[in-house]
Amino acid sequence: MNRVVMKYGGTSVKNIDNIKKVAKIIAKRKEQGKNVVVVVSAMGNTTDNLIDMAKQISKDKMNTRELDMLISTGEQQSIALLSMAIEAEGYKAISLTGFQADIKTTGVHTKNTIKDINTAKLEKYLDQGCIVVVAGFQGVNESGDITTLGRGGSDTTAVALAAMLDCSCEIYTDVDGVYTIDPRVYKNARKLDVISYEEMMQMSSLGAGVLETRAVQLGKQYGVPIMVALNTGMIRGTYIKELKKMEERGVTGLSMAKGVLMITVDNINYSPVDISHLFKLLATEKVNIDMISQNSQKDGLVSVSFTADDEDKYIVEKVLNKYCAEIKSAEYTIEEDIVKISLVGMGMMNQSGVASRIFGVYADSNIDFKLVTTSEISVSYAINKKDTMTIVNNLAREFNL
Ligand code: ADP
Ligand code: ASP
Ligand code: MG
Repeated sequence: MNRVVMKYGGTSVKNIDNIKKVAKIIAKRKEQGKNVVVVVSAMGNTTDNLIDMAKQISKDKMNTRELDMLISTGEQQSIALLSMAIEAEGYKAISLTGFQADIKTTGVHTKNTIKDINTAKLEKYLDQGCIVVVAGFQGVNESGDITTLGRGGSDTTAVALAAMLDCSCEIYTDVDGVYTIDPRVYKNARKLDVISYEEMMQMSSLGAGVLETRAVQLGKQYGVPIMVALNTGMIRGTYIKELKKMEERGVTGLSMAKGVLMITVDNINYSPVDISHLFKLLATEKVNIDMISQNSQKDGLVSVSFTADDEDKYIVEKVLNKYCAEIKSAEYTIEEDIVKISLVGMGMMNQSGVASRIFGVYADSNIDFKLVTTSEISVSYAINKKDTMTIVNNLAREFNL
């Protein structure tokens, strides 16, 4: 079918000039005969600014229903402005909020997932020759309340729409593709022509913010061809698709996740009940735990370490204080300024030497790591933030990234 979903992120529509530029590119695409659905994010730092305002009122306990109501307004501004700008180019356009586009979601506020999209209305407008401009990042839940999909969620809206409309999805942003490493952190990174859904999913979930993880998951599930490219549309980007042949490369990319907390709880009785109680308390408070390790018992006591997002610091402290009050022997420490460095590659599945080479780089660089976790196609290390650039440079050299 002759349709395409084009998505523009916040930096691409950060001011009126940029919105006008994007409108021209979209109009051209329509002129070339495509039926275009555009998904757009909030302008520049709008979402951050809205969240900051909310934080000034509700410090610790945020009403997330109201937060969703607030932050969804960012995208509502940009869809209206972009539609006006497209009309100024002489093309018919109509803006739709998530609710109007029938994007049904489910889950907890600020972290909803898309359940279903009824594209009937959207297709009606396409049939009328309109360019349809849909608000990214938002939908409506079972109760009829406005919801959002988590930070970076406009990517998810775009891929979900492409899945439902059975077309490809083009993600336009401020970099010209997916690189082996975030090019703003490591300037010698290489642009990838193509990357598999699996690798991109791992890269994203381990910190590569260029594409939201759930968007890649949906792309894989529905076989949506995704392209990430520069917002000028003039440079060939990176294609994300199913790769039939296993790539030769052992390691495809390196992802970085900043803002990690490392928590160690010492002197826990060596009993599954006491250990599981800790994680139960954390789960009750919806703290997202990432890497976990437990050392071997000594004198009937063990230590448990795990990482969490530093956004959750306040709540983690609350849980740990409660836990240590209940389990009298337990004591905790929280280390901040931790970074998680991960290497990702399909080739790791059948190249046994990769782990040993990574450990070798850490040894040669004389850098300590605090926790290590692996999956079939990734290896992650929690390290001190100060060591980031040394290890990134040395890993990039070793694996030709
Ligand atoms: P948008 O506002 O368009 O959604 P984002 O800021 O969410 O843009 O994503 C683009 C940014 O992702 C880039 O500016 C870049 O710094 C970052 N990034 C992180 N990892 C990578 C990577 N591996 N390749 C390309 N960009 C990356
Ligand atoms: N505006 C939202 C955010 O800043 C969604 C997005 O940009 O994808 O997270
Ligand atoms: Mg983004």
